Amino acid sequence: MVMDRRRDAGHRLRMPARRRRSILALASFLLLAACATAPEPAHRWSLVVHGGAGVIERASLTPEVEAQYRSAMQRALTTGGAILDRGGSSVDAVEAVIREMEDDALFNAGRGAVFTAEGRNELDASIMDGRNRAAGAVAGLTHTRHPISAARAVMERSRHVMLIGEGAEAFARSQNLEEVDPSYFFTERRWQQLEQNLRANNLPIPQRPANAPRAPQATLTYPDDHQFGTVGVVALDASGNIAAGTSTGGTTAKRWGRVGDAPILGAGTYAQNGVCGVSATGTGEFFIRVGVARDICARMEFRHESAQQAADHVIAEVGATTNASNEAGDGGVIVLDGRGNVAWAMNTPGMYRASQSAGGAPVVQIFADEQ
Ligand code: ASP
Repeated sequence: MVMDRRRDAGHRLRMPARRRRSILALASFLLLAACATAPEPAHRWSLVVHGGAGVIERASLTPEVEAQYRSAMQRALTTGGAILDRGGSSVDAVEAVIREMEDDALFNAGRGAVFTAEGRNELDASIMDGRNRAAGAVAGLTHTRHPISAARAVMERSRHVMLIGEGAEAFARSQNLEEVDPSYFFTERRWQQLEQNLRANNLPIPQRPANAPRAPQATLTYPDDHQFGTVGVVALDASGNIAAGTSTGGTTAKRWGRVGDAPILGAGTYAQNGVCGVSATGTGEFFIRVGVARDICARMEFRHESAQQAADHVIAEVGATTNASNEAGDGGVIVLDGRGNVAWAMNTPGMYRASQSAGGAPVVQIFADEQ
């Protein structure tokens, strides 16, 4: 009886050759399909940088100025890439690149920041670590040389996420961060932009800041970058950790302690391992209202959109949002996905931007139509 049953089972296992061939064909088809839809292998490291968005057009950019911006963006890739390539952390790469850009008068961050209507430089910055979504932000700094390092100190050495004004400065001092005389941030180019803006709006022009250099430091052959020039960096390191950071002087002739999106986590900056990292630049009010950085990450996490799809969608939303004066939002974003794929989007004629991944060639672009 038992023997019979076994024989019976054995018989059932012996399948006709034709049936076996079709099962084999189906299995190889499924395997091929799985390979075709499998995600690209992750990059060992990736880096994407912006230096602000705005009305940056070929006609308004002399070859010399264009070359200055392109080499500053290339320098940012070299600095960040070296850290990531030797296995350094994404937080270290983001801070190092932004510190360098804060020292570069080309950008509206640290030295070279735009002026408030009262003729001051008030600096904002934020940083986020995608490992655990730790974050730090500062707003309204006037003496701290590197606002991004103050933001990092808030993230790593305080129980808080955001500090402003005098208190933020006192905290930075307590952490031995370098302080400078406010005249360190002064550039003639930004002062002239302030005077033009105030004159156009019939507002009084303040005294030149004490200790401001007398001789013009720069001629005004720079593009009307719509007063932007904020800097931002997103990095993925060899351990798979994503970090993002943003630093800015805000917008020219800002008043009343105005703060934009750059130090607002979820608006100007966001990072979440395995999902995304984002840094934004543009008219901050719209970026805060749309919740740009978090919205891009949420679309990628929950709707499984690619970084490019999510960036395009959210920048279109910014452009479709208007304020009480019927102005629409403008600016751009840089994005990394969890595997280090790069995306950027903007609705302005240009955005200084650059990217590189391990073993890949650097990409540096300025104009919106550059491929
Ligand atoms: N988003 C910044 C702000 O509104 C400005 C900029 O990106 O240039 O403060």
